[in-house]
Amino acid sequence: MIRHKLLFISIACFLLTACDGKPLIDVGAPGIAKSVSVQVHKWKMVTTWPANFPVFQEGAVKFANDVRLMSNGRLDIQVYAGGELVPALQVFDAVSQGIVEVGHGSPYYWAGVVPAAQFFSSVPFGMTAKGMNAWIYNGGGLELWHELYKPFNLISFPMGNTGLQMGGWFNKKIDSIDDIKGLRMRIPGLGGKVFKKAGGNPVLMAGGEIYTALERGTLDATEWVAPFHDMRLGLNRASDYYYYPGWHEPGTVFELMLNLSKWQELESDLQKIVEVTAAATSEWIYAQMEYNNQKALQELRLKKNVTILSFPDDVLRVLKDMTKLTLAEESDNSADFKRVYEAYEAFREDYNKWNNIAEEAYSDALRLQ
Ligand code: CA
Repeated sequence: MIRHKLLFISIACFLLTACDGKPLIDVGAPGIAKSVSVQVHKWKMVTTWPANFPVFQEGAVKFANDVRLMSNGRLDIQVYAGGELVPALQVFDAVSQGIVEVGHGSPYYWAGVVPAAQFFSSVPFGMTAKGMNAWIYNGGGLELWHELYKPFNLISFPMGNTGLQMGGWFNKKIDSIDDIKGLRMRIPGLGGKVFKKAGGNPVLMAGGEIYTALERGTLDATEWVAPFHDMRLGLNRASDYYYYPGWHEPGTVFELMLNLSKWQELESDLQKIVEVTAAATSEWIYAQMEYNNQKALQELRLKKNVTILSFPDDVLRVLKDMTKLTLAEESDNSADFKRVYEAYEAFREDYNKWNNIAEEAYSDALRLQ
């Protein structure tokens, strides 16, 4: 929705005068009001997050507030949580059809419509936040993403990252791959497909139902996010063992999704404000995650007495092999998936050569006794 608003701006002479009092610009006689026509865009943003959901929904609201402030009110975005205007999983359609102008969520929610979009969220044993940033911003990822969304009249920019997630909560110890067999675990998306190939029984379940299902034994295990959000959901009270690492979601990217026609109508300075604020919000969300997770982990360890364990290497090896099989199968089903997978892998291969002797080698060095 675009409204024209006529603002009568009274230009005071002292704002436009040099130190010596001489006017810098001829603004006419002092005291005469000048009228300037300013276009105000009133937009709506729908998100996939519950109202007041910490960090994620907060990030979306912060983005809208920052854009309003920086644009001096010219781009005024009203934010609605999942279900307030449209159901969480209809955000893609709502923005695509122009029912609303903006959305915030994560690309893997649209896997049913755009399977290749999953590479712009997170894939099992894929790149972490740093690698994803390098690929998306500089390695050709963003261009591919835009190309993929164009037929849907959409354009997206990264706006958040969860950082590495946790492997999840289990009501029994996982000592070997046999312990996965038949295990009912809430684990969505590609991770769920991999889990199934490894013998598990993946269950799709919304966040709000997980706690009760785990407590009552309808579920044997669940993944959610990481210590901060998991503790808020009370998962430590419903389960005994907390496993790491989050092999299935090593750094999930969130997206700011815009209706392409509305985006193209926007003045270039406002486009720049949106783009830069999305990048700043991305960093804010990621930093919030890292800060809150280290704090929550201490609480889980020291106050809640949670048993925190790493998956055995043999279990991770099987999951890794099953990931390769799953990604190959998905590539056979979708030409776009195959194309994006190949681009992603080509970048990752080069990136890993650097990462192995940089962050990873440094982490190894830190662990030396
Ligand atoms: Ca997750």
